[in-house]
Amino acid sequence: MLKNIYDVIVIGAGPAGGKTAELAASLGLNVLVIEEHEEIGLPVQCTGIDSHRIIQLSGLKESDIVINKVNRARFYSQNGNFLELESKKTVYVIDRHKLDKNIAINAVKKGAEILTGTRFKDFKRSGNYLMVHTSSGNFKTKLLVGADGPNSSVARKAKIEQPKEYLIGYQETIKDDFSENIVELWFGKDITPDFFAWVVPENKNWARVGLAAKNKAVDYFRNFIKKRFKQEYDKKDVLGGVIRYGLIKSSVADNILLVGDAASHVKPYSGGGIIYGLIAAKFAAESCFLAVEKNRFDKEFLNKEYDQKWKKVLSPAIKRGLFLHDLIHIMPNWLFSLSLNIAKPFRPLLNNLDMDLLFNQ
Ligand SMILES: Cc1cc2nc3c(=O)[nH]c(=O)nc-3n(C[C@H](O)[C@H](O)[C@H](O)COP(=O)(O)OP(=O)(O)OC[C@H]3O[C@@H](n4cnc5c(N)ncnc54)[C@H](O)[C@@H]3O)c2cc1C
Repeated sequence: MLKNIYDVIVIGAGPAGGKTAELAASLGLNVLVIEEHEEIGLPVQCTGIDSHRIIQLSGLKESDIVINKVNRARFYSQNGNFLELESKKTVYVIDRHKLDKNIAINAVKKGAEILTGTRFKDFKRSGNYLMVHTSSGNFKTKLLVGADGPNSSVARKAKIEQPKEYLIGYQETIKDDFSENIVELWFGKDITPDFFAWVVPENKNWARVGLAAKNKAVDYFRNFIKKRFKQEYDKKDVLGGVIRYGLIKSSVADNILLVGDAASHVKPYSGGGIIYGLIAAKFAAESCFLAVEKNRFDKEFLNKEYDQKWKKVLSPAIKRGLFLHDLIHIMPNWLFSLSLNIAKPFRPLLNNLDMDLLFNQ
């Protein structure tokens, strides 16, 4: 039953929006989620590889979302030289459709309402409230959470500047023989000048193979496939999407906050955004609760209670990630290959590196 006024309207039922809604509703707020697609979690635009944190942060069981577990990663230079690292903690290959859907189900269980097949268009200020215009009508709210992904309409309408750096990711799920517990990461100017290519096994026969680049991602992908597989192949699940990365200057405006990819809660070195988005969702929900409790919806309050709080946790990791991203991608191929050799004696140290926050665990 739709309400006359909401405490919080969340745009986007991805993991960041769904989790913000679930946590805000469990704190007692009236929450409405607006999602443009009819089916939550589709279309999938993600490889679905995440650290052990995905279980605790999503609040889901392994059996709800996990397709495969991997514990080894091979970092290749384009001449085939590689460094293999072994993670002490399990790394999961997940079903992204089920992740989004199950988080949304939990949000509804906590009392949030979800309107699918509904597109956010714009908002207008009306006193201390916002009137949110959507393809299914207008809704009044105290707070608007933009969890609407890397090309956030909420950010655009609220004139919040998103980081400018972005990549286009392209992926196909390919049939071949794979080691089911080894992920491959391929670096090199001819593979993709801006990022890396990945091979993430679902099982022995199928792997999610993709890469990201600023331009011509599909062309680079075709070349990589020829190099890595050297044959005709069967495929399923073709997908693509935008990865926006960098440290956002401010993720808030009066009555408005951004979370997840909309706020570039993304690891700049891997493009992964689910873990950071779920971490930030907790800060978003708690700040919404405080804002409603204190009847403070102004930018200054949201800056102190949300922007500064998530940045305290995530901005050091994002800055380290940006440094690593830039360092890897300015290296000529020969230097990257040499670095892999230099790093080999340090494997025990590197095996302990936290893949989300980039420090030793
Ligand atoms: C090729 C590729 C591979 C990736 N692989 C990984 C990976 O392995 N691991 C990882 O952690 N991350 C990965 N990512 C990143 C990950 O997909 C994102 O970080 C994650 O989806 C962000 O979640 P979110 O909830 O912020 O946004 P999204 O998942 O983008 O959700 C936004 C939601 O908002 C909805 N929406 C948008 N506009 C509107 C509107 N106007 N009105 C209503 N609804 C709207 C969308 O339909 C969508 O459901 C990958 C990204 C790409 C492109």
